[in-house]
Amino acid sequence: MDLTHRPRRLRQDRIRGLVSETSLEPADLIAPVFIDATATTRQPIESMPGHERVPIEDSVARVKEVLETGVEAVMLFGIPESKDATGTRAWADDGVIQEATRRITAETDAYVITDVCLCEYTEHGHCGTLEPELREDDSEMPAPSLTVDNDATLTSLRRTAVSHANAGADMVAPSSMTDGMVGAIRDGLDDEGFHDVPIMSYAAKYESAFYGPFRDAADGAPAFGNRRHYQMDPANSREALREVRLDAEAGADVLMVKPALPYLDIVRDIRQEFDHPVAAYNVSGEYAMLHAAAEKGWLDLEEVALESLLSIKRAGADLILTYFAEDVAGRLH
Ligand SMILES: [Zn+2]
Repeated sequence: MDLTHRPRRLRQDRIRGLVSETSLEPADLIAPVFIDATATTRQPIESMPGHERVPIEDSVARVKEVLETGVEAVMLFGIPESKDATGTRAWADDGVIQEATRRITAETDAYVITDVCLCEYTEHGHCGTLEPELREDDSEMPAPSLTVDNDATLTSLRRTAVSHANAGADMVAPSSMTDGMVGAIRDGLDDEGFHDVPIMSYAAKYESAFYGPFRDAADGAPAFGNRRHYQMDPANSREALREVRLDAEAGADVLMVKPALPYLDIVRDIRQEFDHPVAAYNVSGEYAMLHAAAEKGWLDLEEVALESLLSIKRAGADLILTYFAEDVAGRLH
């Protein structure tokens, strides 16, 4: 056989590394960390094996564990000691994220990114202040189509982001899909002199069933209704470019797509359309399903975790938020 083209020639052991198109480094990864102001000991998260909600007192120790694997950045999520209608504990000076951020930035070199949203802080679990007609509680009311009052929520997000920056956050990451959130937060940060604190916007965040396990972790399931009118319809991709463009124009520094694996086409579209760094959030459901299959002996967990993250990188993500951060980084290290 006289074949001119034999792609197999480049798949041999000593050459594959040289021709590899995509690489994954611990420095590409961001580890989500859950801080729980109601906990006195570490609480395992059942649907996310290996992850815990840690008390504020353990936040530094938890972040040091992440740093030991080679991962340099963490994303903090908070569970407050109490919730109310508008989520006031989200911007409290002595709030859970503010306390944890002060400790972590004082005692470690971690790059601290904070999630800026209200769903963990509101008693109804929505990502903002409710529409006026919903503020009067009436459980007999039919499921409303609009739940969150967009513009009333902007003030709360702005205050929350500023309070995180005041506590020392290196970057803030608004995740509520509130129209105008990036502009409101940029204004708030600049007014307080935080010109150098970047914003990573959850710019294309879909209303996804893959978030299920996270709701165990962060205690943020909505008490009624759903998030359809503020998170994106999974059927839409042109709309993702529109969402991302609005955030880019408002000053977002990093553009995020969430979830990652079912939306790799969106990651690719944004990579091609924008010059900004692109982040992808490999969400709790993507993590949990691999763990569940591995537990049954159906998949090799280490291999599928690495392959998943590599595919997200190959699609065009520069940085990846993932619950596999520590495991995969430990292996790459
Ligand atoms: Zn939220």
